[in-house]
Amino acid sequence: MPTLDAAQLPDRGTVIVRGGYVLTLDDALGDLPGGEVVIRDGTIEAVRDPRAATGVAVGPSSMPDDATVVDATGCVVLPGFVDTHWHLWNSILRGLIGDGERAYFPVKNRLAPFLTAHDTEVSARLALAEATWAGITTLNDWDHNLRAPEYADANARAITASGLRARYSYGNADKLDPGRHMDLDDVLRFRDEWVGDASEGRISLGVALRGPVRTEPAVCRDEWDFARANGLPITMHCGGRRDEGGRYCELASMGAQGMLGPDVQIVHAVHATPAEIDLLATTGTHISLSPLTEYRSMGIPPLGDLLAAGIPVSLSIDTLAIPTTADMLLQMNVTLSVERARSARQDLTPRRMVRMATLDGARDLGLDDRIGSLTPGKRADVIAVRVDGLGSAPAVDPVATMVLCGRASDVDLVIADGRILKQDGRLTATDARAVTDEASATLADLVRRAGWDVPLGVAADRPVVSAG
Ligand SMILES: [Zn+2]
Repeated sequence: MPTLDAAQLPDRGTVIVRGGYVLTLDDALGDLPGGEVVIRDGTIEAVRDPRAATGVAVGPSSMPDDATVVDATGCVVLPGFVDTHWHLWNSILRGLIGDGERAYFPVKNRLAPFLTAHDTEVSARLALAEATWAGITTLNDWDHNLRAPEYADANARAITASGLRARYSYGNADKLDPGRHMDLDDVLRFRDEWVGDASEGRISLGVALRGPVRTEPAVCRDEWDFARANGLPITMHCGGRRDEGGRYCELASMGAQGMLGPDVQIVHAVHATPAEIDLLATTGTHISLSPLTEYRSMGIPPLGDLLAAGIPVSLSIDTLAIPTTADMLLQMNVTLSVERARSARQDLTPRRMVRMATLDGARDLGLDDRIGSLTPGKRADVIAVRVDGLGSAPAVDPVATMVLCGRASDVDLVIADGRILKQDGRLTATDARAVTDEASATLADLVRRAGWDVPLGVAADRPVVSAG
């Protein structure tokens, strides 16, 4: 069983990423074709163009002999992708989901009560390994099947061991009675134990609240007040399945009650009306969109309208279980294409999509002072995506090629908090086969415990998976 902890992750040291097309996402630095990113002990020390001698120079004599030099020729070098809403806990359900009784919600509802804290940790490890492989270096672990404190700890252990950065959005057990509060005391216990040195400062905390439609008014008010009294950012679903009529949250009344604001992230808002979009904009409320899952069951988000209103919009994976893949490149491509089809406005660009998947995600999570751009002084979450192979070459505008032709499998290099976690297209610290085998075995066991006689694949008792 993979039981990696942070102490077993690669050392940080000094890393120079050289020769790629450096897309800094920093307005002052711009793009640096053939540029270099210099990383020391987890911090971006310099970003420079060796030919033009621009950027913050670091003298060669200051480079230790054992610096790792990574050749990023043929790649776009950019900040790691930032996901802003992802239910890590149900990742192992991927593959079970289909249509009818095998649709996402029936399967989730059926199996959620049977998940143990161990199953949750295995699920989180699968998602985190896939995130690493796909260049997602920060995510918002949106936990809405938190059945006891040890489930929260299971998530935190998996995140800490992964080397990635996350907000943990503390929630409640799936289908918790609307008249019952989530475990507010344990939210503060979790903060004391995991936010800080225990996670190397890589875990931050928020709350995933059910809101006015899914809790009784007194519970809703208590939970909202608790979050604000403790300075915890709030996230809430406001989606709506097409088969349920599309709507289930009342943004107007939330606005009237002072519940919206810059500390609130609304997930989906696929069916927001023009008046609701104005309200979200004037209150500074954020939106997280997960277009790949929204298209499947909710509808098409009005992305261009949200951006035109000035609403901070970021991108998210939502769940692997629907099923989908943690491919931010695919997400950017499809989202851009569908928005071009949806709207007469044609001003959304590949470059804008990249900002949504990096710097705007960091802003959404309140981490843009630490990550989201390749700015000297920020933490070193850096990736490189190949744009010179079959499927993408010849690249003329490397950024457009990356967004419109790239896939997660093109992510060649992943550095998270200064550690190289993927190099030459291979994970360095995670045994992908061990992770996927463990996920398959855990799913088989979960289905058995739930008393569900469902075929899992061609093997006798295990689903068929690929390590990717
Ligand atoms: Zn969700």
